[in-house]
Amino acid sequence: MTAQEKDSELTDMHWMVQMLQTVDVGLVVLDSDNKILLWNSFMENHSGIRSSQALGNNLYQLFPHLPQAWLQRKLDATFKLGSPAYSTWEQRPRLFDFKSYRPLTGGSELMYQNLTLMPLQGADNTTAQVCLLVYDATENAISKLQLEAANQELARLSRTDRLTELLNRGYWEECLNQEFLRGQRSGGESSLIIFDIDHFKPVNDTYGHQAGDEVIRRVAQLLRSTARETDFAGRYGGEEFVLLLPDTPAEGALGVAERLRKTLESTQVEYEDLTLQVTISLGVSVFSPDLVSASQWLERADQALYQAKNSGRNQAHLWQNQKK
Ligand code: GH3
Ligand code: MG
Ligand code: MG
Repeated sequence: MTAQEKDSELTDMHWMVQMLQTVDVGLVVLDSDNKILLWNSFMENHSGIRSSQALGNNLYQLFPHLPQAWLQRKLDATFKLGSPAYSTWEQRPRLFDFKSYRPLTGGSELMYQNLTLMPLQGADNTTAQVCLLVYDATENAISKLQLEAANQELARLSRTDRLTELLNRGYWEECLNQEFLRGQRSGGESSLIIFDIDHFKPVNDTYGHQAGDEVIRRVAQLLRSTARETDFAGRYGGEEFVLLLPDTPAEGALGVAERLRKTLESTQVEYEDLTLQVTISLGVSVFSPDLVSASQWLERADQALYQAKNSGRNQAHLWQNQKK
């Protein structure tokens, strides 16, 4: 090698080191004992640990919080196979608990990281060191997480009735259909209740639509507090509500219906300086293998509701086969 060549090689080396230092990626070189051989400025800036403090130290001693078993498995594989290994923020949000200073995150969140473990081969082609590359994936992660949250919110809104926050008719009917198919497959006793506020039109006509809306909201609230986690409570129409009760036989469903009826009967709805009181009529029907469709199941509950209305309102009726 001529002196000139040597000079040029040294310059290349010098540039290389500067680039390693300034690149916006964390670079850590480890030997097979996890001793740190390189710690670039990205790592210095985010960890607060200077290169002079890091070099020669064991990585796990310097960062006791690291997921050692997980990281060691990846490192061992990289040493052994001599091929790179990867981990994305989706698989593991981060290796190092670095703060993220992106304006997007309000400055307080932790950095999301993608990782690459690169084997560094020596002249004899064996892997003597591994370079750990730490990429700041925060922006990508945050926007993806925000998008997911927005999509979930949209999905929730598309299932929800605006006025009452109960399930809306379309989504409730989907649930009913699923329950109907489940009944057809595996039998079981599930019930449904449909109910309607009695003489609601006069409430609107006398006190106005806003007062009527308040009554509807209050009825929905009571329905929600009566329903179990596994039930499906929905607003079927204007002042009609539905409750699907999986694994609930007739007596249980009638019990729920009666409880709803009684609670409503003794509830006073305050609206501005008014005190309003309403009752409800309810129809109950139980899943039965002779049903041909989910809408027939609902139709039966509706017939029972009609009977409850015709028998004087403020009561619950169970659909029963007239031919029996
Ligand atoms: P019944 O005892 O036979 O059920 O008598 P009703 O007056 O309750 O029955 P009807 O179905 O004739 O009236 C329902 C009324 O509900 C008609 C409509 O003005 C009112 N309504 C429907 N949707 C809403 C709503 O979202 N808000 C308000 N305030 N009123 C509604
Ligand atoms: Mg009605
Ligand atoms: Mg009504």
